[in-house]
Amino acid sequence: MNNLVSNLNYFRSLLNPTTKIMVMVKAFSYGLGTYEVARLLEENNVDYLGVANIFEGIELRKAGINLPIMVMKPEVDSFNLMVDYKLTPAIFSLHALKVLLKKVDKVPFAISLKIDTGMHRLGFNDNEIIELMEILKKNPNLKIESVFSHLAATDDSAHDDFTNQQINVFKQIANIISNEFDYHIDKHILNSNGIIRFNNAQFDMVRLGIGLYGVSSDEDTQQKLLSASTLKSKIAQIKYISRGETIGYSRKGIATENLKIAIIPIGYADGLSRKLGNGNWQMIVNGEKSSIIGDVCMDMVMIDVTNIDCKEGDEAYVFSDKNPITKMAKCIGTIPYEILTSYSPRVKRIFCY
Ligand SMILES: *Cc1c(COP(=O)(O)O)cnc(C)c1O
Repeated sequence: MNNLVSNLNYFRSLLNPTTKIMVMVKAFSYGLGTYEVARLLEENNVDYLGVANIFEGIELRKAGINLPIMVMKPEVDSFNLMVDYKLTPAIFSLHALKVLLKKVDKVPFAISLKIDTGMHRLGFNDNEIIELMEILKKNPNLKIESVFSHLAATDDSAHDDFTNQQINVFKQIANIISNEFDYHIDKHILNSNGIIRFNNAQFDMVRLGIGLYGVSSDEDTQQKLLSASTLKSKIAQIKYISRGETIGYSRKGIATENLKIAIIPIGYADGLSRKLGNGNWQMIVNGEKSSIIGDVCMDMVMIDVTNIDCKEGDEAYVFSDKNPITKMAKCIGTIPYEILTSYSPRVKRIFCY
């Protein structure tokens, strides 16, 4: 938890004093645990929380979180719940806006507008802005809290021209919208990598995600962040396997010499990818690297501890500072985001200060 605060403060140090921070706590706070992280962020005075769906937002409200919460992909069928739980929907289409208007009737309600500037995921297209404005002008009970967009490729300098173009398109559309209203509307477009690489496009707020959780694709930044999670298990049993015998399903693990193996009670149902099996990943046991041997099972996995001094009950680190998720992601052809969010709720989260 202290490392999360340290990472938050590092990103704060990159921002102008007036720039607000929304922290993304979608997907169980990138796998770490929604409520505990949200409460920590509330205590540390972030301005906003961001979630993906309404139910993530409702969970936070039920847990007593009072910060403003933006819902990135609100389900139109559940707009009445947004009103009940004071969640701010990111309105992304004329259809969604019309459904919302029916649900809120004439009651004052805050919304955010999501503009598509090139990502081509949810968001208003530029040719819809005129109709959008006409509807909003007729319904002053809807207060536009912010206008925002999402950048598609902030981590890749090969696409910097495209990113700058997205920022310029956003600036134009956001100005058109905010000039129509006599109150202030926040503008925001930067994610974690955007804060690092497009720092002069902060507008009024930024949306911090993966960086808070200790991961950056920018090497200098990665040096400054503290890792916010380790995953560990304990050796359930140790076995001695004679040369020529096999280990696990489909007999994929083959003892080419006499082996000492440890059975670790974590498997693919916990989120440990099967792609890590058969020597593709190493856990750390008593400071030593220990390769996975054979296939990862649903609830268990076997590791080679032949040359490691260890006993049943000793800890095995699936990932940690010494075998980080950035490396794990590369190893199985994915990104750290997917690694973090893949660990199932069955894996107990423990929060340390
Ligand atoms: C998840 C998300 C972010 C945060 O992205 P990171 O790359 O994790 O910083 C920002 N904005 C939106 C709309 C998101 O969905």
